[in-house]
Amino acid sequence: MKFHAFLIKYAEIAIKGNNRKYFEDALVKQIRFHLRKVEGEFAVSKTQGRVYVEAAGDYDTDEVIEELQHVFGILWICPVVRVEDHGFKDLSEKVLRFMDEAYPDKHLSFKVECRRTRKNFELNSQEMNAELGHDILEAFPEMRVDVHHPDVLLRVEVREDFINIYSKEIRGQGGMPLGTSGKAMLLLSGGIDSPVAGYMISKRGVFIDAVYFHAPPYTSDRAKQKVVDLARIISRYTGPVRLHVINFTDIQLAIYEKCPHDELTIIMRRYMMKIAEKIALDSECECLVTGESIGQVASQTMQSLLCTNAACGSLPVYRPLIAFDKNDIVEISERIGTYETSILPYEDCCTIFVAKHPVTKPRLAVIEKSEEKLSDVIDGLMEEAFASDEVILCQ
Ligand code: ATP
Ligand code: MG
Repeated sequence: MKFHAFLIKYAEIAIKGNNRKYFEDALVKQIRFHLRKVEGEFAVSKTQGRVYVEAAGDYDTDEVIEELQHVFGILWICPVVRVEDHGFKDLSEKVLRFMDEAYPDKHLSFKVECRRTRKNFELNSQEMNAELGHDILEAFPEMRVDVHHPDVLLRVEVREDFINIYSKEIRGQGGMPLGTSGKAMLLLSGGIDSPVAGYMISKRGVFIDAVYFHAPPYTSDRAKQKVVDLARIISRYTGPVRLHVINFTDIQLAIYEKCPHDELTIIMRRYMMKIAEKIALDSECECLVTGESIGQVASQTMQSLLCTNAACGSLPVYRPLIAFDKNDIVEISERIGTYETSILPYEDCCTIFVAKHPVTKPRLAVIEKSEEKLSDVIDGLMEEAFASDEVILCQ
């Protein structure tokens, strides 16, 4: 069937009061950005409290829907047949044609739901429901009415300049439009969790940049490429990601050489946080984001998180997955398409310099004391780490 437009339904934007225009404009902008890759001519507009994508030329409905399903802020996507007002009889014929084409197998129950924003149409909404219901039953005797749980909810909306006919609502991502909530710096490793954390924070309307710490020659180019690939995959949702790749080898070696081995992971994580925080401030990000979840590993117990958290002085650290079970994280990563890449078995800098028996209840004062052993080298090493920053645009 040829659709003339896609009606975009959004959730929370509708409750934003005076800010509604700001959110709608951001949504329109994001939809335009996404559709620039799709063949066809698309006009995205706000009309009477609605966002529409009007489509012309040769285009593929599934491709448009697939693209719209990557736009945060969209709750439902409704492909719409649009007709002009030539009176009720004409409308009824068009509705019957719509039902016939949309549902070749007529063994279905249905309900008609009409709405008028233009009140001078010849029938009111109740009358239209009744008349159209009657006409459908007459034309397609296999169909039956079910007002409570219909298989097909047929909507007919008489608007100012046209009439919309639609019956399908396709689920979008939900969330808030990108660009409405500032920018975050994601600590992106090659694992399962951090790409999901990035996706989730971005879903609240937040742009993301990312930082990845690698440790050549202990970690390979393939491990780095995997992180680039993950950033590319999430960029389908989050928009372009500027990935900072930081050489962390010398800091890791220094920690390994000078600090107690059972504290390696915590101390390493704290320096990652410190470096990430500086890059975040330089990139005008308002927070850090990690894929940590309470209790998942030794470095993510409450006490470990307290120590890691304390490393950041200026920016808050958000952990969208903090209370998630691994299963649930895996489920999201499968849905957003990062899982297959995340499980590729390349080495990670955290797994190479790992202790056999890491502390699970570190005390901040003890950790800080251990870090004093680095005091004569760490400033120089941090400078070198910042200088190694390689920025890769992932999109
Ligand atoms: P993930 O699946 O995201 O790698 P994980 O369960 O392996 O998580 P850890 O290795 O303990 O957990 O890392 C916790 C968090 O610290 C990660 O989610 C990520 O945000 C950050 N992190 C860990 N290693 C790195 C790294 N090499 N570069 C950037 N961030 C990292
Ligand atoms: Mg990891």
